[in-house]
Amino acid sequence: MKKELNIMERIAEASKAITTGVDKKDVEHWVEVHIMGKAYKVPADLTILTAIEYAGYRFVRSCGCRQGHCGACATIYRIKGDYKLQCNLACQTRVEDGMELVQIPFTPAPRAFYDILKEDYVVNVFFKFYPEVARCVSCNTCTKACPQDLEVMDYIQAAIRGDFESMADKSFDCIQCGMCAIRCPAEIIQYHVAQLGRRMYGHYGEFEPEHLKKRIEEINEGKFEKDLDELTSLSRKELEKLYAERIREKE
Ligand code: SF4
Ligand code: SF4
Repeated sequence: MKKELNIMERIAEASKAITTGVDKKDVEHWVEVHIMGKAYKVPADLTILTAIEYAGYRFVRSCGCRQGHCGACATIYRIKGDYKLQCNLACQTRVEDGMELVQIPFTPAPRAFYDILKEDYVVNVFFKFYPEVARCVSCNTCTKACPQDLEVMDYIQAAIRGDFESMADKSFDCIQCGMCAIRCPAEIIQYHVAQLGRRMYGHYGEFEPEHLKKRIEEINEGKFEKDLDELTSLSRKELEKLYAERIREKE
């Protein structure tokens, strides 16, 4: 009897189909997905990104780090029989049978130019550069669209209240994928607003920690120059050994 594969083994098996060109007959699990309206049979358990590549597409845009950090591979899809339009990252989402999907290569989202050193640390800075924030109708669509599960509506509301700290905190993990802005009925570009908020908070709201001041002084005094010279003179192999043997900070 064939061994039942666990999910990690199934993903590995499916990925082999594109990374090593394994014979199709050796792939056990298949699903049918529609990519921009055209049906394809792809190994089950691939990510959307690799499934699109398996189907023969080559990414010029809509693909970046492949690790869920860069926000480049925004994808939208519906699953057969489900009314819900889903937003996610193609590199972090597995294909499912009956997916109708399309990549969003780019979100048109004009960004304001400013010099935070010339701006006052007050709520009006948001209305000055992104007046559309005032149009937020608190529908929460942006929160539902966010693949990072951020409370997007809450951070926009924090901006409207001038609560820089809350906004910086709530938007900290934003990867600028653009999904929130695409769905917003008020046409707010949430992630640009959040970036302004974090920059303002980083400069005006946070006190410079003592240890950071001390470290900057040490750098300026050249305390680390010798260590740095030694490091940059090492070979890749020596660096890898040093990295493997490094002393880890206690958690
Ligand atoms: S807040 Fe918007 S841009 Fe940022 S990760 Fe969420 S959906 Fe993407
Ligand atoms: S989608 Fe737009 S209007 Fe709706 S809560 Fe988010 S920012 Fe406000």
